[in-house]
Amino acid sequence: MRSKLSRRFVVLDRDGTLIIDKDYLSNPKEVEFIPGAAAALRRFQEMGLGIVVITNQSGIARGFFSLEQLQRVHEHLNSLLNQEGVKLDGMYFCPHLPKDDCNCRKPGTGLIRQAAQDLGFNPEEAFILGDKNSDIELGKRIGAVAILLRTGYGEKTEQEKRIAPDYVCDNLEQAADLIFSLLNKTSSTHKAH
Ligand SMILES: [Mg+2]
Ligand SMILES: [Zn+2]
Repeated sequence: MRSKLSRRFVVLDRDGTLIIDKDYLSNPKEVEFIPGAAAALRRFQEMGLGIVVITNQSGIARGFFSLEQLQRVHEHLNSLLNQEGVKLDGMYFCPHLPKDDCNCRKPGTGLIRQAAQDLGFNPEEAFILGDKNSDIELGKRIGAVAILLRTGYGEKTEQEKRIAPDYVCDNLEQAADLIFSLLNKTSSTHKAH
């Protein structure tokens, strides 16, 4: 059931979804939005949605960059977003390796559960957006609306057909159109799919 008290949230991936995937990005200067991404986030805000970024950053466990470097990248990303009129509600990352078997690396649900607890939203009511199978699988595991984007590795993910997303969009802008129409179609008590 949809709670009237809690805002719905967009939970989005970072690399290949919000910013250009540059393989283990560690230099703040290399943060570059996917065209239209910041404007799409502004539209989510205007729709009254909360916005959280959840990202796997195994480059830390691999020793490619430090926690401090990652924090600098995220500070810079936040300041670029602020310049575009966007304020994230939260940014969460998993620093581990796949073999660490943690519960926070996507598709593990640890980080979205943490975010939901911190920010007071129902994860089942979230829209999960990303370019990889792990993003879509996270959406499925949590029972949210899972939207695959064709940016980043998205076209490859779509071709693999390993896991079926609820929707596929070209980019965040198109996802904003989709979510806008889903929210308007289901302003009653039911979930958007
Ligand atoms: Mg990605
Ligand atoms: Zn982890």
